[in-house]
Amino acid sequence: MCDRSIDCPFCVEYTSASPEVTGSCIQCIVHYPNHTSTHFAVDCGTFQEREYDNLNYCFSFEPKELEFLLVTHAHIDHIGRIPFLVKKGFSGPIYCTNDTKQIMDFSLRNSVHIVKSNAGKKGYEPLFVSEDVANAMLQVRGIPINSFVKIDDHIRAYFFTNGHLIGAATILVQIFYENLQPINIIFGGDYNDRNMFFDVPKLPEEIRKLPVTIFTEATYGYMNSDEVDYCFEDNLVQFYKEHPDGIVVIPTFALRTHEIIKTVGSMQQCGLINPFTVYVDGKMSSTFNQMVASGAFESIPKDNIGFLPRKFKYLRKEIRANRYTSTSPQIIIASSGTGSYGPIVNYLQNMFNREDVLFHFTGYPVPGTVARKLYDAEDEAYVNIAGLCVKKKATVKFTSQFSAHAKQDQIMNFLTSFENPVFVIVTHGNQNPKAIIAEQALNKLNIPNVGILSNEVRFLVGRDGLIEASSTEYDSTV
Ligand SMILES: [Zn+2]
Repeated sequence: MCDRSIDCPFCVEYTSASPEVTGSCIQCIVHYPNHTSTHFAVDCGTFQEREYDNLNYCFSFEPKELEFLLVTHAHIDHIGRIPFLVKKGFSGPIYCTNDTKQIMDFSLRNSVHIVKSNAGKKGYEPLFVSEDVANAMLQVRGIPINSFVKIDDHIRAYFFTNGHLIGAATILVQIFYENLQPINIIFGGDYNDRNMFFDVPKLPEEIRKLPVTIFTEATYGYMNSDEVDYCFEDNLVQFYKEHPDGIVVIPTFALRTHEIIKTVGSMQQCGLINPFTVYVDGKMSSTFNQMVASGAFESIPKDNIGFLPRKFKYLRKEIRANRYTSTSPQIIIASSGTGSYGPIVNYLQNMFNREDVLFHFTGYPVPGTVARKLYDAEDEAYVNIAGLCVKKKATVKFTSQFSAHAKQDQIMNFLTSFENPVFVIVTHGNQNPKAIIAEQALNKLNIPNVGILSNEVRFLVGRDGLIEASSTEYDSTV
């Protein structure tokens, strides 16, 4: 029974345990007028910021009481704690798209050793082990993209194409109660209107006409898409002009490997750079890329999977060292994107002192990572890379052009594409971009207020908008 027993409007209560960017987990409690309630959550990700490490070990709700979980997409900050949730007693179904299910299985299995080593360094118990991943996957129910699932007598969830990642979905939840009008909620799921491998159609018109509460992220809310420096292609062309026999090493996140290969392959095809051999190094990157190239994902049309360059090889660990001393031009794509773990660490240790090498990072150099250390290092400075002091002679470049997060203009296009938003809740993002998106939403949408979700606030929202906001800080006081 629901505890709002005196006056119980038909509404949904939203809270989150996340204070900042990562660890996405939106908790939702549906309150029905007959005083019953349904507790569900959207995503259950890992807190990746070092200062929030301890938050990974607790939930602000009782996992046993959760009835079902919806997953928007398979990035670790949205799925990384699912095995822990199951270990702690959650036994309900987990709904996501078929492609997300595949990536989730692959990513979680591959994260077991990282979880173990991170916990070991801090003297903690690992969050979960392989067996917990296998148990969690038994609860996952994949459905085709652009279809819906009837969860119970009152709730339906529709999964629409989202360009953020293969399998990613923007989820519409509709909640029905007797003869009342349904409550509609859109969970953006790091919505992005484009993807290099498949089209992202606008949400159907009948959906955009509904009165909806919209959840949106704000990670890149501080910049517009025309401010992105699309420098990757130019940097490679320039480098090969100066070093015709040089080597380009590209630190890459495993789930982004196919996009980098496609970009490099297209440059070779149109003659911007010569058709040198392209290597991929890293177990996770190689396996994921093989999945993409073999047509394993239903969201990628079959005519988009022939993207591998003519000269292309997966590198095995045993022959990696041959690359360090090689003097023939080539391109090596190695995980991980931060330079902090995976085979890229070895490339940095062994090739950072070569003038004929370009390390081109494909993401923003986040403080605390090796990428950041290299970003900050002067030329010829000594840099400590995983215990080896190396003189910086290689060229180092960065681009955020491969980021899958929507920028301010794209986020606002998404929000303004709805004709009848009743409330907007900004999740995911540092304080500043979250505030910018909230302000923009207030200015451009015809709504009286915008919520910024965090562990400090709770929103009670009905079909027509916000009923009540309250601070969780005062929960225990009178
Ligand atoms: Zn994401």
